Amino acid sequence: MTSGPIFPEETASSPVVLGTDGLRTWHGSCHCGRVRFEVDTVLDRVAICNCSICSRRNAVMHRVSAERFRLIQGRGALTFYEFATHTAKHWFCGTCGIYTFHRPRVAPDCYTVNVFCLEGVDRDLVAGLEVQRFDGRSFPA
Ligand SMILES: [Zn+2]
Repeated sequence: MTSGPIFPEETASSPVVLGTDGLRTWHGSCHCGRVRFEVDTVLDRVAICNCSICSRRNAVMHRVSAERFRLIQGRGALTFYEFATHTAKHWFCGTCGIYTFHRPRVAPDCYTVNVFCLEGVDRDLVAGLEVQRFDGRSFPA
């Protein structure tokens, strides 16, 4: 699994990407606004997981490859939580406490973001998306 630094430094925002396939840039933030990030993706599916941490934070998530994720602001505001195997880093804003994204243990080359941190995403939008159910309870964190 991944070792060493697995968290990107802040990078500049990229212009919105619009593709005919629905690819676009989604702007994400925590509640207080200290943490800002972007993902370039087709938001056609979300994932939910039954593991102990995802259940408690009621997380609805979307995974992207690392090159489609950019931390725009807030490296210093982010805090992480890890448990069990200490492989996954569960990042959250140390000020407002909102879970923003994590690097999944099962896919350390990816970022999994909290879809409700993305601008323009609400319960109605998510209700129309494919939901993938991940059985995280059966895997050690
Ligand atoms: Zn915050």
